[in-house]
Amino acid sequence: MGLETTVKYHFPKGQNFSGTAPQTSPDTLTGTDYIAAMGMAMARAPIGYSAFMGKVGVSENDAARAVSLLTEFALQSCDKVAALRKLDSDIKPAVMQVLATYAYMDYCRSAASVKPCECCHAKGFIEASVFSMKSPLSGGYARNVKDTVRVLCKQCGGKGVVSTACRDCNGRGRAVMKAETEKQGVPVMGDCKRCCGRGYERIPSTEAHNAVFEVTDSISLHTWKKSVKPFYDGLIGKLEIEESWANAALNKVTA
Ligand SMILES: [Zn+2]
Ligand SMILES: [Zn+2]
Repeated sequence: MGLETTVKYHFPKGQNFSGTAPQTSPDTLTGTDYIAAMGMAMARAPIGYSAFMGKVGVSENDAARAVSLLTEFALQSCDKVAALRKLDSDIKPAVMQVLATYAYMDYCRSAASVKPCECCHAKGFIEASVFSMKSPLSGGYARNVKDTVRVLCKQCGGKGVVSTACRDCNGRGRAVMKAETEKQGVPVMGDCKRCCGRGYERIPSTEAHNAVFEVTDSISLHTWKKSVKPFYDGLIGKLEIEESWANAALNKVTA
């Protein structure tokens, strides 16, 4: 049983008073077996286990736990980056927490996520100027009058949020490779160039830098790009690796 399978234990389709999983499941465990297995996975891969459970929405506690475990990990490993090593000891934990929080948000993103609409600043409408010909009541020449009206934002259809799915591949992660397709004369699919096959846009790392900037102005954008961003990317990678460890641990105890 892998982590994905566990989700249905938390969101059962039908009510079930026996404390056991639905019998239709191919890898059915009793309630107590299930709890034991999860406990084991949690002990062996705490970051990955909490990260995954927080991502799929099983519990907010898990999300908070994943961020705090990742913050701890960041604190232990940040001294290899000079710009982070030099931070004052009283602000270092705050910076690590910002980095861990953004890394976790990025890790949680999928093609099904939404983000605030940039076009309307998440308001759902934009102000537009319209010109209309109006004749003064007193007679005389008609003239162009400018009015400001609120119109529904086209980008998000008034919802204030837009999908994070990649625009080039619609979240599929695969796209037609133009050059290869032309060369071979048949459609050739490959990893989408825009999203590198992920299927969705990542959180721009400059947003994480802006949040860090609110804690301390000692990390310039140049320093961020050169040395801190790779460290931040490493934190996102850490969550992905830890998730696969948790998955492997769970597979092992339920095999
Ligand atoms: Zn909008
Ligand atoms: Zn794409």
